[in-house]
Amino acid sequence: MKRKKPKAELEVPEKIVKAWKVAREVRKRAYAPYSAYQVGAALIDEKGTVLTGCNVENASYGATICAERNAMLHAVAEGIRKIRHVVVVTDSEPPAPPCALCLQVLCEFSDEKTRVWLGDLDGVKECLELSELLPRHFGPGSLARGLRARATRLKR
Ligand SMILES: [Zn+2]
Repeated sequence: MKRKKPKAELEVPEKIVKAWKVAREVRKRAYAPYSAYQVGAALIDEKGTVLTGCNVENASYGATICAERNAMLHAVAEGIRKIRHVVVVTDSEPPAPPCALCLQVLCEFSDEKTRVWLGDLDGVKECLELSELLPRHFGPGSLARGLRARATRLKR
């Protein structure tokens, strides 16, 4: 039987630990009367600004917004257009990643340097690249390629 190599100890920078603490606190403010699944998120931009969000459910379930998108919309309202780190706190084992809707929104304001840190109530447990979570996402380049293809077809 093949034995798994033990995972290398995750090195978590101090600024990520601070953001995790903030996300863990904002998670307590989640409005989750239907699922009881509370999520806190903290985003860090290029200047080190931290913006937070928690999930906010709604009796009309489709109106529910996740913590990650809530934080991203908060960041945009503050004038932020590029995020470096996403820290998500759930009470899950292993910690849960952002859903696909949130990944799509986060990708709009991220680049290859952006990292997603997944934590539970005890600490940060995992670090991933956005591209690992959502490879080949639809982005501004997708729209540009579509417009170019259409223009080429019209010339024919
Ligand atoms: Zn989500």
